[in-house]
Amino acid sequence: MPFRHMLIALDFSPTSERVLQRALALAGSTQAAITLLHVVDYLPPLGFADDFTPSPAVMVDEHTLVEGATRTLDRHAERFGLDEGVARVVRVGTPRQEIVTLAAERGVDLIVIGSHGRHGLRRLLGSTANAVLNDAACDVLAIRAND
Ligand code: AMP
Repeated sequence: MPFRHMLIALDFSPTSERVLQRALALAGSTQAAITLLHVVDYLPPLGFADDFTPSPAVMVDEHTLVEGATRTLDRHAERFGLDEGVARVVRVGTPRQEIVTLAAERGVDLIVIGSHGRHGLRRLLGSTANAVLNDAACDVLAIRAND
């Protein structure tokens, strides 16, 4: 049975281009629907103690990060000629969790991820890829990063 709905997880590392290229080639041949996902991996600052002055970096707010990620996701989609009909989702949270949750929510039957992303080639399989492979209820395709 061909895949019907593919979730493509992009962390905006150099591997993302390769992940998109491969996933779209596969989606084209199976006519699968596509959802693009980026997860803003962000911990909101804790309540400020009196002796703690937050640095400007800490004060970047969640809304700004989500807006920036949405624009970057749109740029990726445009570069690959995807039209407005292709779903784009930006979530805030832990990438491994959000990828698996969104896939379940939307009835995705294939998750496409990079073998490694921003965390580099420290392990045989990157931490997110590993976790998604373990936790997802559907098939997972890990695209090898160029090393
Ligand atoms: P990592 O295990 O962090 O090296 O990342 C491996 C792959 O997981 C990446 O190539 C992406 O496909 C996916 N991934 C990691 N972080 C994110 C993120 N913040 N948003 C979406 N996908 C992600």
